[in-house]
Amino acid sequence: MSRILDLQDRFQTLASAAQYDVCAGGAPPTRTAKRERAARFFYPSRVSGGSRVMLLKILLTNRCANDCGYCANRQERARRYCSFRPQELASLFMDFYRQRRVSGLFLSSAIPDSPDRTMQEMIETVEILRLKHQFKGYIHLKVLPGCSEHLAREACRLASRASINLEVPNAPRLRELSMVKDFQNDLVIRLGLLKEMEEEGLLPDGHTTQFVVGAAGESDAEILATVRDLYETKGLRRAYFSAFNPISGTPLEGIPAENPWRQHRLYQADFLSRFYGFDLAEIPLDEKGRLALDSDPKMAWAAAHPEFFPLEINRAEREELLRVPGVGVVGVERILRARREANLNSLDQLKKLKVITGRAAPFLLLNGRQTVPVVKRRATGHTQVKLQQLSLWDEMAQDGTEHPLAGAAG
Ligand code: SF4
Repeated sequence: MSRILDLQDRFQTLASAAQYDVCAGGAPPTRTAKRERAARFFYPSRVSGGSRVMLLKILLTNRCANDCGYCANRQERARRYCSFRPQELASLFMDFYRQRRVSGLFLSSAIPDSPDRTMQEMIETVEILRLKHQFKGYIHLKVLPGCSEHLAREACRLASRASINLEVPNAPRLRELSMVKDFQNDLVIRLGLLKEMEEEGLLPDGHTTQFVVGAAGESDAEILATVRDLYETKGLRRAYFSAFNPISGTPLEGIPAENPWRQHRLYQADFLSRFYGFDLAEIPLDEKGRLALDSDPKMAWAAAHPEFFPLEINRAEREELLRVPGVGVVGVERILRARREANLNSLDQLKKLKVITGRAAPFLLLNGRQTVPVVKRRATGHTQVKLQQLSLWDEMAQDGTEHPLAGAAG
C-alpha cells in the first residue's frame, strides 16, 4: 500500500488526515460543517489573548502502530502511507507563512514505531522553525502518548500550546478502543507533566485535551467528571469534543455516527461549569447520565428550578444573575454597573445591556414587576418555558466575550 508520493500529494494526505484533531470548538453543528472540515487545511482559531490565528493543521506521518478503534490511521487499515521529513515540513510551513496564508502551526502525528522517534522528529521540525527561521508565532504541538518525559519537556520548551488527547474519559472505556495505549501512564500522567511545564512558565497558551464522543459508549456524566478533574488536578486550559464518525476499514465502522448536537451540548455544559458557576451535580442529565439533545442545559436547569425564579434584577447577586437564561457573563457585569446608577425597570434598558430579553424576561422582576408572565402548569405548578436550541450560545455571542471560539486556539 505504501508508495512514494510527491510533496503535493503528501501535503493533501497529511493535512486531510489532521482534520480529526479539533482546534476550535463550540459552534452549533451545521450540515456543511463536516464537508467543509474535510475540504480545507487551514483552520481559524484564537489564542489566549483573543487574537485570531490561521493554522496549518497537519500530521508528520499517517502510519501508526497503535490500534485505536475509531482512527483512520490505525494499524492494518488500508490507506496511503506517507510522511514528511522535518526539513520538508518546516519549509512547507514557511512558504505558507510568507504567503500570509497561515500564521501558526498545529502539528500532530501518528506513531509508526517508537513514540520517541516520532516525537523527536516533531521537535526537530519545530526547532528548525524557531531557530533557523526565527518563527516566533503560535505553535500547537501534540505530545505523543507514551513518549519519554524528557521529550515531552523539550516539546513544551518550543511550543505555545501542547496537548495530549485522552479521547475517552477513563481506563475501562479506553480498553474498549485500544489494547495498546495505557490510560494512566501514557496519557493522564503526561498531562500532569504539561501542568508542571506550564507552572515553570512554558506553554503560554496552556495545555488541552480532546475527547472523541460516542465511540466507547461513554456517558456525558463520565466525560464531564473527567474534564472537571483535569481542570482541578492537571491545570487543563480547556477540553475539546469531537462527535464520533465511523471510518471504513476500522473495527467501529458499523457503529452509527454520534449526533453532532451531543458534542455541542457538551461544550455548553463545559462552559456552564467553567464560567457560570455551575457545579457538576447541577448540570441537568437524564438517568443514563446524558445531556438532553433538544435543550440548552442552562435553560433546562432554569426550567427545572422554578423555586429560584423570578429574580429581582435590581437586587440579585452576580452568581444569581449568571443563572438567568439570556444573560451572559458580560451582560451580568453590565447589569451590575448600570443598576449602581439607577434602577432598571424596562426591557429596553436590558436590551441596551445586551441581554436577550425574549429569553430572560420570564425569569426576572423589574422593580417588582414581571414583564412576561411565566406559564404555570395547572397540574404541577412547575414553571413552563420554551426550551430553546441555541440559547446559551446566542447569549455568549450577544455579550461578546463568550463566543465559543474565544480563547479556543487549537
Ligand atoms: S495513536 Fe493516534 S494516530 Fe495512532 S491509532 Fe491511536 S489515535 Fe490513531
